[in-house]
Amino acid sequence: MNIDQLKNEIRDVPDFPKPGIVFKDITPLLEDSHAFDSLIHHMCESVDKKPTKLVAIDSRGFIFGAAMASKLHCGLVLARKKGKLPSETYSQEFQLEYGTDTLEIHKSSLSDEDTVVIVDDVLATGGTAEAATKLCEQAGAKVLSYSFLIELGFLNGKQKLSSPIHSLIKY
Ligand code: AMP
Repeated sequence: MNIDQLKNEIRDVPDFPKPGIVFKDITPLLEDSHAFDSLIHHMCESVDKKPTKLVAIDSRGFIFGAAMASKLHCGLVLARKKGKLPSETYSQEFQLEYGTDTLEIHKSSLSDEDTVVIVDDVLATGGTAEAATKLCEQAGAKVLSYSFLIELGFLNGKQKLSSPIHSLIKY
């Protein structure tokens, strides 16, 4: 499937989870096995330098990160919301529109020998991906690039990220 066909299967949900936000609902894409196969193929193809690990962001990033890691034959690291990982973690707070949130990774997941691609469903303001970047840096790992299914270009999230960004579908 081409990018326009994939784009047609993303549902816009206005005013979710709060007024003024147009939520990009990817569940129709996941329900269509051809669409999912195809988008994972495209996202993997855009990874030009193979990393040792993919770092997937809680929670929809896990869906894409897991499928990509399996195809690319690299490890998968989960960047989870605070308090979910059982062992010792690095922790990074970041700003949301209202308030803050925290992402964590296991200290044992990454080292200075790792090269990483960070994966998520949507790049919006970039705060989440920036926090994931700082977690990788805390572990000494090098971020090679980012892979997003969707980029909301008008929010200019790429300004917060200094490695190359690959996004399949842009708004
Ligand atoms: P940000 O930190 O602003 O780049 O937000 C990125 C994170 O929030 C991603 O993990 C997305 O899953 C989620 N997100 C932000 N905006 C949207 C949106 N309009 N539709 C769906 N998910 C979004």
